[in-house]
Amino acid sequence: MKYMSVITNFGCHYKCPYCIVKENNLHIPRTTLSGLDNLEEALKENNCDIVSISGGGDPLHEYEKHIDWYRKFFGIAHKRNVFFNGSMRPIPVEMHTSYMTDETAFPFYDCYRVVYHANSIDQLSQIRRTGNEIVRAVFVVTADYTIADIMDIALFVKNSTGIDELSFRQLVDDKYTEQHYLEDYLRMGHKKLWWYIEQNDYNLYYAENEVSGRYRDFEKEVL
Ligand code: SF4
Repeated sequence: MKYMSVITNFGCHYKCPYCIVKENNLHIPRTTLSGLDNLEEALKENNCDIVSISGGGDPLHEYEKHIDWYRKFFGIAHKRNVFFNGSMRPIPVEMHTSYMTDETAFPFYDCYRVVYHANSIDQLSQIRRTGNEIVRAVFVVTADYTIADIMDIALFVKNSTGIDELSFRQLVDDKYTEQHYLEDYLRMGHKKLWWYIEQNDYNLYYAENEVSGRYRDFEKEVL
């Protein structure tokens, strides 16, 4: 699968405990409607067969103020047909957010997959399917996680009818250095009870009409 990751900056609630950007500005250009003008061409030129939305902040921060942006984004996605899982279809959209299902009015059912970035096991009960979307929960493992925490989360998801997939990732610090908490254990459960995502910058990123192979290329001092 060839991903295009659309990086947004609509701001953020700054509530994730591991957030490294809350004290600084988000060094990603502010998202504008005209910043989508090159997206259709960029998807075509790079032969992408899936497009994800993430941040710089949370893409669903103050969603109601950015409905026009989402309307334009989905308009582009619906027009772009790709060969995916054996048939032609509009390019699948994957949404990454730390807002749980009912904390936003965003229509999650328009997505192929929703990746909920959860911070605690309690948040898992606030995740639900709204249509046919694949529902994934992802946790960033921090220093205070124990094996019991991991297993509690894994068992919750295994018994859940509303969450299909679970993944864990390591914390990346402000120097882009990946940590290695409980790594052997997380690798052991990979592809069994969860997916263990090791960081690598293999995506293509799109922000404000520009495409880059590296997320950090979009980081600029912004006012
Ligand atoms: S979504 Fe990102 S920017 Fe917002 S609080 Fe969480 S880690 Fe920080």
